[in-house]
This record gives sequence, C-alpha cells and structure tokens, in this order.
Amino acid sequence: MNTSLNAARRLADLERVRNTAVDVLVVGLGATGAGVALDAASRGLSVAAVDAHDLAFGTSRWSSKMIHGGLRYLAKGQVGVAHESAVERGILLSRTAPHLVKAAPYLMPLTPAVSRGQAALVMTGYRMGDGLRAAARTPRRLLPGPSRLPAARARRLAPPLRADGLRGGLLSWDGRLVDDARLVVAIARTAAGHGARILTRCRALELHRGGAQVRDELTGESFTIRARVVVNAAGVWAGQLSPDIRLRPSRGTHLVLRGEALPGLRAGLHVPIPGESNRFALVLPQHDGRIYVGLTDEPVDGPVPDVPEVPEQDVSALLAVLNTVLETAVDRSQVAGAYAGLRPLLEAEGRTADLSRRHAVLTSPDEVITVTGGKLTTYRRMAQDAVDAAVRLRNLPAGPCVTHRVPLVGAEPLGGPSGLVERYGGEAAAVHELVKLHPEPVGAGRALGELVWAVRHEGALDEADLLDRRTRIGLIPEDREAALAAARHAFTL
Ligand SMILES: Cc1cc2nc3c(=O)[nH]c(=O)nc-3n(C[C@H](O)[C@H](O)[C@H](O)COP(=O)(O)OP(=O)(O)OC[C@H]3O[C@@H](n4cnc5c(N)ncnc54)[C@H](O)[C@@H]3O)c2cc1C
Repeated sequence: MNTSLNAARRLADLERVRNTAVDVLVVGLGATGAGVALDAASRGLSVAAVDAHDLAFGTSRWSSKMIHGGLRYLAKGQVGVAHESAVERGILLSRTAPHLVKAAPYLMPLTPAVSRGQAALVMTGYRMGDGLRAAARTPRRLLPGPSRLPAARARRLAPPLRADGLRGGLLSWDGRLVDDARLVVAIARTAAGHGARILTRCRALELHRGGAQVRDELTGESFTIRARVVVNAAGVWAGQLSPDIRLRPSRGTHLVLRGEALPGLRAGLHVPIPGESNRFALVLPQHDGRIYVGLTDEPVDGPVPDVPEVPEQDVSALLAVLNTVLETAVDRSQVAGAYAGLRPLLEAEGRTADLSRRHAVLTSPDEVITVTGGKLTTYRRMAQDAVDAAVRLRNLPAGPCVTHRVPLVGAEPLGGPSGLVERYGGEAAAVHELVKLHPEPVGAGRALGELVWAVRHEGALDEADLLDRRTRIGLIPEDREAALAAARHAFTL
C-alpha cells in the first residue's frame, strides 16, 4: 500500500488517467471529494480525483476544526442530522482517526449576563448532547460528560475570564481535529493507498456523462479523463460545474491570536452572543499554542472567490463578543491573523444560520452526481451516500462501503516524539528521522524536516502547499513571511 503522494507520483498517475478510463472521477479534493475517492477505491473501484489547486484548498481548511456531536442540530429538531454527526464523531475518535481527533473541553462562563434560566437551559442541552454520545455508543472514556464548575475552577481552566460576578462555568466536551487540512491529506493519502489517482493542480473545465475535460494547471495542457461516473465534490464552486446546483454560501470568519493574548487558557470557551438565546462565539485553543476565535455567519452573494477575504467588521464583531467575558480586553493589534471560509449551503429560504447543514446527493440531467452541504464531521457518510448513488446509476461492480473500519494513514499507534505523534500519529517516528537530519526551526514549533516530509509523502508541490495547508504556519502572515525561504529550501533537499 503506497500512501505517499509527491510530484513524481502525480506525473505517473496523470499519464495513466490520460490513457485508461476509470470507474469514478471525483472533482474536488476537500474532505468530501477525498472521502468519495477513499470510499470508491476501498470498494474496489478504479478512481481518479482532481483538484484545481491543492488538497484542502477550499472550505475544508477554514473550519473551526471541531468534530461535532450534533447538539446544535438537536436544538433545531433535526434529530437525524444530530445522530449522524454523533455516530461519525465516534467513528473518527475511536477507529479511523484517533490520532487526528481528540476530545476537547469547552467552558461556558456563567457571567452576570447569563441568567439562571439560561444556564439551566444550556446544561440541559449539554446533557442531551451526552445522550447523543451514548446513543452513538461512544464511550465516556473517549468523551467525558458535562459538569458544572465553581468559579475558582472555571478560572483555573480559563484565567483570562473576568472574575467579578463569575458564578462558575458549565463544562462540556466535543471532538477537536488537530488540523482540518491534515485530515484531508490523510484521507487522500489513504485513498491513494487503495489505488486512487490523486491529482492536484488539475482543473475540471467541463463535466459530462462519460467524464470531464481537465486542464493541467502546471503545463496548461487540456485533456479528457474518461469515467463511468463523475462525482462533483467542488464545494462552494460546485454550481460552476453543474449549473442546476444552486448554493447560498455563507461566510464564517475566525481570528487567530497568539497564545500570549489569552495566557493560561486550558479549555475552549462558549461565549454567549449578546441578544441571541442559543448562539455562542467560540474560543478554540490549538495544539500549536495559537487560539482561534470564531465565528460569523453571513450570507455572501456574487462570484465565489478562491480565497475569501475577511472584512474588518467581522474582526470587530468577534472581538466585541470575546471581550464581554474577559478581565483584560484583547485589542485589534493582538489579532495576529484572520481567515474566512464559505459554507456550501444549498439554496433555501431563511437566514443562513438557520439553513439545514444536512448534506445532499443530487443527480443532474446529464447524470453527473453532486455531493454537497454537510460538514467535515460527516464527510465519510457523505462519501458513502455519493458512492452508493454512483454504483446504482451505472450498476458498478462495487462491494459495500467499508470506510467506517478503514483507519486513515497514521491511525496505528507506533510511538515517536510526542509533539510529532500529535500531528503524524503512527508516522511520527518516520517523520522524526527526517527532523533529525533537518532540525532547523521554521516557525510555529515546526522543523525543516517536517516540510521535507510533506514534499516527499504528502503531495506538497510548492511553498504555499507547505505553509498554508500541510502546516498552518501561514495563518499568521508574519510567521509565513519568516518561513518562506525554508519552505523553498525544502524542495531542494
Ligand atoms: C467557517 C467555517 C467553519 C466550519 N467549521 C466546521 C467544524 O468545526 N466542523 C465541521 O464538521 N464542519 C465545519 N464546517 C463545514 C465544513 O468545513 C465544510 O462543510 C466542508 O469543509 C466542505 O468540504 P468540501 O470538500 O465539500 O468542500 P471544499 O473543502 O471547499 O472542497 C472543494 C474543492 O473543490 C476544488 N475545486 C473547485 N472547483 C474545481 C474545479 N473546477 N476543478 C477541480 N477542483 C475544483 C477546490 O479547489 C476545493 O479544494 C465549517 C465551515 C465553515 C465555512
């Protein structure tokens, strides 16, 4: 099983797909498309999967990195979606990606602005969330239940909270990804291990019943990939390829703070949004010491950009909510970076914050299958449904879905230095060998050897792949600038 992706393999795979038809062509290599490639390949189908840019170039790298138990869907009465989320969370935590998904604690501070009634309501919600965990058969040892903490303990978990009037906190647990882009890379590499041909820098220009017209973005050359079924997993760009798909993207912004901005923070925070009964801003400590603060939900009209911009009003809105609970306010100069992503929501009436986050699998008149909506947490189930539809459409010779028991690359515990194990799981020892050869620090706690690993095994083709997706150094522009020369150097080693 060769799970390494690199420039040489890309060239060899390109040559093959130009000459041989495949069962399934997947367009888009975010979590959804990579999931479809893995699902189809692990059922024994031949697969090509293309992305116009890179693995995780789109929305999949701009998430809150949470693997949700589905509580918010339960609150809206979407019981099926909530249960599905909880089941998928359990699969990731226990079987397919225990190295990338861990339980993380979240504290809701009981400030004077939170009434006793509201606190009771939120606790009831957390208990229902724990019920979802139980219904999905995820053991408590993987995901502890909620509890109420006295003020002193709440402040120990979150020292920056304002002490005055703090009655305590409500503690709950949910899944957290070490990094969303790394999840996509792991899924794509696992698919490659099952024989899928993973082709980045290949843009689909036009999709049709028997395949797609594709352009190699590195050479400018166009060619046809012949396929029995085409699956459009192009996220917010899906409508550009299948015009009958109508999406209503919504922008979610996160701020990136350095750890010093909120010193000693050991749990995430659910910060109630003033004037909203059941919506929270999220404070999300990351394993690299940075802290994200999110997130907005604003409908976006007009052309879909490759990389969404963060408007200044999103920054001030998030800071304003965050500062309602802090002893010392975080000011604009402490915002080290910010990012925005577009949710691929299907068009419907209503506020985007209220649209269903359930995914959809749609077959267009020209028999292209589109899979969209949903979320990172449910990528596996989305892929299963899309491949089921493809198999039915063309009567493909495929076995049943097996991805609920296919561990992603790195899921086997093999040991290695702890910082590396957190990011690379069972591959940490192999990465460490490269780090010993190239120990030079490149920023955000990473060494040059990790960049070399990404070039040789994770399909990084240029410095943006390294800094913006294989590592997330680029989320802080100042750190990105400082690491650029090392990233270029990694391609010469
Ligand atoms: C701000 C925000 C926070 C979120 N937080 C969470 C969270 O915490 N947990 C969670 O579970 N979900 C979360 N989500 C939802 C989740 O991120 C998305 O549902 C998911 O990432 C969508 O993945 P995708 O693969 O469908 O799309 P994408 O990741 O956008 O992938 C589409 C890919 O298609 C490629 N593409 C486009 N056009 C073409 C073409 N013509 N040819 C070839 N390739 C093409 C793009 O380059 C891109 O890589 C969040 C979403 C947002 C916006």
